[in-house]
Amino acid sequence: MKLTIHRGANQIGGNCVEIATDSTRIILDVGLPLPPLNQPPQPKRGRVTDDVIKAVFDKPQPVAAVLLSHAHLDHSGLLDHVPPGVPVWMSKGTSKMLMAAEIFANPEKKRLEINECVLPPRSPQRIGNIMVTGYTVNHSVFGAMAFLIEADGKRVLYSGDLRLHGRTQGMTKELTADAAGKVDVLLMEGTHFSGDREPGLSEEQLGEEITKDIRSAPGLVLACFSPTHLDRFVTFFRATKASGRLFAADHYTAFVLHMINGEVPRNPHPSAKEVRVFGPRGQARIPKVASRYEHNEISLEDILREPSRYVMIFRPSMLGKDFKGKLPDGVRCIYSYWTGYLAKQDFRIARAKVEEARGVFVERHTSGHIFERDAVEFVEDVSPQYIIPIHTTDSYRFRILFANSVLLKDGVVWEVP
Ligand SMILES: [Zn+2]
Repeated sequence: MKLTIHRGANQIGGNCVEIATDSTRIILDVGLPLPPLNQPPQPKRGRVTDDVIKAVFDKPQPVAAVLLSHAHLDHSGLLDHVPPGVPVWMSKGTSKMLMAAEIFANPEKKRLEINECVLPPRSPQRIGNIMVTGYTVNHSVFGAMAFLIEADGKRVLYSGDLRLHGRTQGMTKELTADAAGKVDVLLMEGTHFSGDREPGLSEEQLGEEITKDIRSAPGLVLACFSPTHLDRFVTFFRATKASGRLFAADHYTAFVLHMINGEVPRNPHPSAKEVRVFGPRGQARIPKVASRYEHNEISLEDILREPSRYVMIFRPSMLGKDFKGKLPDGVRCIYSYWTGYLAKQDFRIARAKVEEARGVFVERHTSGHIFERDAVEFVEDVSPQYIIPIHTTDSYRFRILFANSVLLKDGVVWEVP
């Protein structure tokens, strides 16, 4: 078995890994490299060229399948480069999150035309002479998977992006129970090996902080988070209920809630009574067939009439189009993304507008990626023969922590010993 990290050995984002036997080549993730913060997240129109991905698909031996770990752009953003016939395997959840993002986050982009195949969790699938099994893991987007790949008598576990401090920790226990002691190579994400080494809050602890923020807020509360991050929605939704308020979703969030309904038995399914839907100007409407919330619309005027009754989802684009450049007095804005995005101009303006309204802008976030301490525990549980860092800018940290680390370079073929 041969393993090649085409991209991601020493960078965060843009993952693309190849696993090959003599007769079968499969690709794990086709990620778009993350742009510098002062640039838009991706080109609005047209197709980017990407030499790595082009080289992967232009070889004489065709790619038998692509496995997609989750719907974030730094893992999935180059899906439109996958040749039309190549099957793209992913969880049902990832398929749904891709669709939601296509409709709402990127409406002007051409629709993806891929040969999508759903990989149910813990259900081995044969691709040529390679066997793949997907394991649901907790990450900052619904539907993320790790993959176990078996071929030539070897087993490789690809972590994708994951964390152990989310709401669904049981998922990872299933994975470690199945994989413990049986893995030759663990291809492990190390986002937090890159300097951010202190563990942050668990999702539960974050919820407690946010509940306090909402309870003490005098007026409207604005919630800034990604609608496809289901754990974070649950955090805000529970904090909203515990504070005796109503949650006002936008169409994007309402569509995601509709899509996951029935997929996650242990998470709350807010009834139409518990969620109001606010339609920001300039956002696509909820597709008619899809919404159980469509009769529950609320206008911004209604919200502003009784601001202390609501927690509403907020994105900077609403400032001009909906709030006409002026936020209500005493507004509290709870920012729940990675702190680095605050450097972007739209959030800088939003923050200034909150202050102008004598409001409070508060950062409440915890990472979607595994803390270093938890990664050490995870590696001990899996106890692989070799550990290969990926999705990190400090692969040498792996060498300090794990004696059996193998540091690969992008593009170098490694024969699994
Ligand atoms: Zn991710």
